[in-house]
Amino acid sequence: MFKTKKLLKMAFVSTVAAAFLVGCGGGDDAQEDKDVLAQIKEDKKIVFGVKYDTRLFGLKNPSTGDVEGFDIDLSKALAEEMFGPDVKPEYKEVTSKTRVGLLNNGKIDAVVATMTINEERKKEVDFTDVYFDAGQSLLVEKGSKVQGIEDLSKDTTVLAVKGSTSAVNIREKAPEAKVLEFENYAEAFTALKSNKGDALTTDDSILYGMAEEDPSFELVGGTFTEEPYGIAVKKGNKELVDELNKALKSLKDSGKYDEIKDKWIKE
Ligand code: GLU
Repeated sequence: MFKTKKLLKMAFVSTVAAAFLVGCGGGDDAQEDKDVLAQIKEDKKIVFGVKYDTRLFGLKNPSTGDVEGFDIDLSKALAEEMFGPDVKPEYKEVTSKTRVGLLNNGKIDAVVATMTINEERKKEVDFTDVYFDAGQSLLVEKGSKVQGIEDLSKDTTVLAVKGSTSAVNIREKAPEAKVLEFENYAEAFTALKSNKGDALTTDDSILYGMAEEDPSFELVGGTFTEEPYGIAVKKGNKELVDELNKALKSLKDSGKYDEIKDKWIKE
């Protein structure tokens, strides 16, 4: 009896302690919530969340260790336009699944990672203006019987990536097809190459990079959604969004945006 009472008392004390700690954590969050733009200026660095496995947009070059692509060059140019040489851009890897969480827990300041602006996501993050227009499509091995969305019957398997709009859209557009989801695009493409599915689905812009890497694969059936890319920041950072939009506009006006786009994206 005594033991039970003692245990109960201990449990109570640790619950109170835990509640106290959680309370303190809340305080830290409030601290973090202080303006991201002010923090960037104070730290003299801006941390962009980018893809590391997506050719043409954000791909880690294994021989140099650098991340390369349209999203990287664009974010570098935006940082320079907004802050000059004082603030250094840094890069952290995100996947479609991890990007919103990493933004909201303050590990990154902005997501520049093939991210579609949509109403659902606007509940969680704030977006800049559109910086690139993509559309969802299909990648198949050349000669595949799948030539478009209408061929995705119950006997076919489509590969997609967790946390992407593509994984959601495909269930709506091809409700019969089986869908297999992977952690990132490298894994999904490896699965397609080893015949784990009949098609891989995501934005045409990403699929072009895969077809360039391995020309035995091709895009089929055109696009069946609109995927306007935006830069995401933690909700409530209007000043940072405004600055990014201003910088984006001046890169467009000066021709720098087109220069970066032409370097990576072939029409
Ligand atoms: N643009 C789509 C999305 O934001 C697909 C690309 C990606 O997974 O990043 O979900």
